[in-house]
Amino acid sequence: MRLSRFYMPLMKETPAEAQIVSHRLMLRAGLIRQQSAGIYAWLPLGKRVLAKIEGIVREEQNRAGAVEVLMPTIQSADLWRESGRYDAYGPEMLRIVDRHDREMLYGPTNEEMITTIFRDTVKSYRALPLNLYHIQWKFRDEIRPRFGVMRGREFLMKDAYSFDIDGEAARRAYRRMFIAYLRTFARMGLKSVPMRADTGPIGGDLSHEFIILADTGESQVFCHRDLIEMPVPGADFDYEGDTEAVVAQRTSLYAATEEMHDAAAFEALPEDKRVTARGIEVGHIFYFGTKYSKPLGAKVAGPDGNDVLVEMGSYGIGVSRLVAAIIEASHDENGIVWPESVAPFDLALVNLKPGDAATDEACARIYRELGAAGRDVLYDDTDERVGAKFAAMDLIGLPWQLIVGPKGLAKGEVEVKDRRSGARETLTVEAAIGRFAAKPAA
Ligand code: ATP
Ligand code: MG
Repeated sequence: MRLSRFYMPLMKETPAEAQIVSHRLMLRAGLIRQQSAGIYAWLPLGKRVLAKIEGIVREEQNRAGAVEVLMPTIQSADLWRESGRYDAYGPEMLRIVDRHDREMLYGPTNEEMITTIFRDTVKSYRALPLNLYHIQWKFRDEIRPRFGVMRGREFLMKDAYSFDIDGEAARRAYRRMFIAYLRTFARMGLKSVPMRADTGPIGGDLSHEFIILADTGESQVFCHRDLIEMPVPGADFDYEGDTEAVVAQRTSLYAATEEMHDAAAFEALPEDKRVTARGIEVGHIFYFGTKYSKPLGAKVAGPDGNDVLVEMGSYGIGVSRLVAAIIEASHDENGIVWPESVAPFDLALVNLKPGDAATDEACARIYRELGAAGRDVLYDDTDERVGAKFAAMDLIGLPWQLIVGPKGLAKGEVEVKDRRSGARETLTVEAAIGRFAAKPAA
């Protein structure tokens, strides 16, 4: 993409309304624009990051055996009356009346809908285990939307729903998602810690929140230090095999959100292992048994021919919240520092002197050859001041900058800057193309 043809409205001033660094940087770097309280338009850079995050979430859900569907944002109130949650959900639910006076709502979550879809289409235990997910916008009329997309009213969520024949199988489904979440967040450069959590309005008896530690986090959390650095299972992890060992290794160490905190069990840890921190919740998983299958009548014929209520769990990831969470975890005083896996472009190509024939030619060649190799390059071909170009590239945070100017080219050289460390290196044009043409493994 040529920057001269792109749309990337940067902001010079620090927006006064933004209290945390991710919100400030998302506005300044032109990722989002607020439309109403807690409701945002996604501009091209933000949209690209959202799509990258969505892609990683999707790959890891598929790898763990979940199957993608897409349910609507608008649901009928009757569906929620059947489960008994219509009144219980309270003012966070955006209620709508259509032209025929039918009561509708903008979905805050989809347990009811998926359970009725399952109920109406699956009749035998042979179809189980089954885990269906979608990535769809949700609306919750949060009492205090704040921190940009971190706590929005309209936000993008991945929500998966598992259906199993008995409690043991349901716990296996839960563990698969638990492991998929560890992998998902690690691939985004995040260290996530699963913590025992309250089940809240979703209900049920087993629940973990996946938290990343950050000073600006909304939740107070407590955990064993070893949990933070523990390596996550690799891409070749066998989800059909032993999931218990991985989960037990983590759940045996203390980790709890404030509501579930047991001060005595935490005092009991050696002092140097006790971490009290603030955290951002990026995912939340629940095992709730027959809480929805019972009122909604989701049964299958079991092996002996008798009907059994299915055991269910649900598994959410805050896809749009993750954009902000990653920035909270990865930025410096000059701007965002994207991990390669979610960066809006693979690298920036900075032309220091547009109009200079040799520089234009070298840039055109690099742009063409990297493009042919499948790399996504943002080519700054504008005639902005050099200082402004560097500041803009640091602000938007692409992991690499390939800097091309007449002085270096006279010696046959271009410069590569690593955004994270700031380290610079000079390479020949060929070497630079060779370096970036190879795509890193996922
Ligand atoms: P919270 O305690 O932060 O309100 P929750 O427990 O209500 O979260 P879930 O219902 O489990 O959240 O939703 C799944 C995920 O969706 C959460 O882990 C979070 O990452 C994300 N999420 C929830 N509410 C919002 C919101 N208002 N804005 C952005 N993301 C959200
Ligand atoms: Mg909530």
